[in-house]
Amino acid sequence: MADVKIIDVSPRDGLQNDSKLISTEEKVNLVKHLMEAGLSSVEVTSFVHPAKVPQMADASAVLEAVSEFNDLKAIALVPNLIGYERAKEHVLSEVNWVSSATETFNQKNIGLTIDENFSQFVRLVEQAKQDGIKTCFSIAVSFGCPYEGEVSEEQVLSLVKRVKEAGADRIGIADTIGIAVPQQVESLMKKVLEVAGETPVTIHLHDTRGLGSANAYAAYQAGVRIFETSVSGIGGCPFAPGAAGNLATEDLVYLFHRMNIDTGLDFGKLLDAADYAASLSSKNPLGRIRHVER
Ligand code: ZN
Repeated sequence: MADVKIIDVSPRDGLQNDSKLISTEEKVNLVKHLMEAGLSSVEVTSFVHPAKVPQMADASAVLEAVSEFNDLKAIALVPNLIGYERAKEHVLSEVNWVSSATETFNQKNIGLTIDENFSQFVRLVEQAKQDGIKTCFSIAVSFGCPYEGEVSEEQVLSLVKRVKEAGADRIGIADTIGIAVPQQVESLMKKVLEVAGETPVTIHLHDTRGLGSANAYAAYQAGVRIFETSVSGIGGCPFAPGAAGNLATEDLVYLFHRMNIDTGLDFGKLLDAADYAASLSSKNPLGRIRHVER
């Protein structure tokens, strides 16, 4: 058993904000590359309305194509119950539901209040349990919001408590705009883990200001063992001004391996996956390690 688990979100968070339309085949190839590196949990797509995020218009086709990969635990983002209905027509392990820690970001991102969105999530959990699909509740802008600025720990923790009570299978804490600093990460994540108890907690990091690895290490020190990253560091939220790429999976894996923390991943093949992801992206990916470690 690996010491930590990494969920790669590059086919979803990595590509969703790219202005160049990437083909279904290329997205499926990316998932294949990730699996070859040993990644089994991958967020493959998002069932967001195609008018809002055109890059994800082929969500059904992508999910259908990757259903052939036997060992893949496919995760799909669903922004609402309509998205869930579309997603569950395919083989998938888990759906990722997003809320924000702040009301303003939630309105801009989802068009609902936090309470309205949460009551939809409660219905999702009921439905997904019947369908045998796991649910993750991700809390965006947990460390700072582009509209409201500072986010208090209490704002995040009260939501974590409600999500746990609602029966989510996983709780995600996201630094959507890459504003967190290590001290803040360690402090919040310790408390989140305490409130979450048995419910697995993940941290989702962006490397906007170059602090992704430092924040991941702080989360590790706090006791977090599941990380959401994106190969080559592609990515960024279309609804978060100034949001740059995710923490690069291979940068985090390099850090862990150098510290003798087993990720269960093949570093060389991860670099191949990162190169492939970078070749799809029209942006300059943030990942560093693939340029120096070969
Ligand atoms: Zn993100």
